[in-house]
Amino acid sequence: MWFLSDEEKQLQDVCRDFARNEIAPHAEKHDTEETFNMDAFKKMGELGVLGITAEPEYGGAGMGCLAATLVMEEFGKACPGLTLSYLAHSILAVNNIQNNASEDQKKKYLPKLVTGEHIGCMGMSEPEYGSDAVGIQTRAVKKGDHYEINGTKMWITNAQYADVAYVYTRTGDKKKDLSTFIIEKGMEGFSVGKPIHKMGMRGSPTGELVFENAKVPVENLIGNEGDSVYHMMKNLEIERITIAGISLGIAQACVDACIKYAGERKQFGKNLAHFQMIQKMVAEMATETEMLRRFLYTVAYEYDQGKIGAVPAAMVKLQVPKMVTKIALDAIQLHGGYGYSREFPVERLMRDNKLNEIGAGTNEVMIMIIAKKLLEDALKN
Ligand SMILES: Cc1cc2nc3c(=O)[nH]c(=O)nc-3n(C[C@H](O)[C@H](O)[C@H](O)COP(=O)(O)OP(=O)(O)OC[C@H]3O[C@@H](n4cnc5c(N)ncnc54)[C@H](O)[C@@H]3O)c2cc1C
Repeated sequence: MWFLSDEEKQLQDVCRDFARNEIAPHAEKHDTEETFNMDAFKKMGELGVLGITAEPEYGGAGMGCLAATLVMEEFGKACPGLTLSYLAHSILAVNNIQNNASEDQKKKYLPKLVTGEHIGCMGMSEPEYGSDAVGIQTRAVKKGDHYEINGTKMWITNAQYADVAYVYTRTGDKKKDLSTFIIEKGMEGFSVGKPIHKMGMRGSPTGELVFENAKVPVENLIGNEGDSVYHMMKNLEIERITIAGISLGIAQACVDACIKYAGERKQFGKNLAHFQMIQKMVAEMATETEMLRRFLYTVAYEYDQGKIGAVPAAMVKLQVPKMVTKIALDAIQLHGGYGYSREFPVERLMRDNKLNEIGAGTNEVMIMIIAKKLLEDALKN
């Protein structure tokens, strides 16, 4: 794309090689066994992408949303599950700390997160509060030099492996009385619940964070009490753009798999590539993928320029994963019975992509955000 900088193009090449050599060969195994590729994750630290948006003074790459989207795309082609864990670490934990924490907190937490010595996660969702994130009920009460936290966070990516969790809590009764804390593994009263077994993204661990009279020092509060709704909404924008990057990688992986299979599989004495209905499927899939890439890169680029906010982020989050589910279903169709089996990656890619229509805000929530803005005036009457 014309607006990619030399640094971004180089990042794309390096990540493509890394994904091909370190991630792709193990993706199927981690999906089947529902395990986490810790080795590749740690190597991402050496590659320099775990703190893609963190400032260089903390060891980060100091790059933006477009760069993070490119990494998601390249890693997402190889293993969307591991890429989701990468997103939870780099965008949900590291980027939030970079943008909202104090100087002392950044110095304390970012360097180890950026090298991969520590793994990060973010806890927003709860068993009873998902789409209604501002309604969360995990409560933090100040008691002298510490806060006492009670509640449960649900669906937390990396929960089982995280050393550091960026956790939203309620500190007052008004809807917007939300405050964030940095929680460390081993803090009194804090534990990780049972792992959650999933249909897709099985290479990404998901679990609960449990707080039972957890004792968290006051210095672990991010900013001031009540600051968190703005922080939450702001970080959701980059989360939504970058998660769409994982879907884009899935789409490209489907196109590549279909082109290869159409050239190999013979029926009626010819390669599938000779059949016009197969040609149509490949041509449309590739065109849709390219259209989504141009849409997504443009939004990510404009985000970095400070030109756009919540609505374009919601638009890419709605449209990219939704169209990629269709692309992945077509890829299964093109592979016939083999596509429905575990022998080819397309069924895994479809299962993995479905999550991107749910996590970081569902399709329906994206529609609500877009419609609320478009119909702002009409809704007043
Ligand atoms: C694999 C995975 C990883 C995740 N990782 C994290 C993480 O790291 N951190 C974190 O905090 N959360 C995480 N989540 C949680 C995720 O963000 C939520 O699942 C998501 O926001 C939806 O919430 P819910 O599951 O409670 O669904 P609900 O909010 O209960 O929604 C159920 C259905 O109702 C629809 N709906 C809800 N409200 C409305 C409305 N007003 N109008 C119309 N339809 C509506 C929804 O679109 C959906 O179809 C993860 C989830 C999964 C599955």
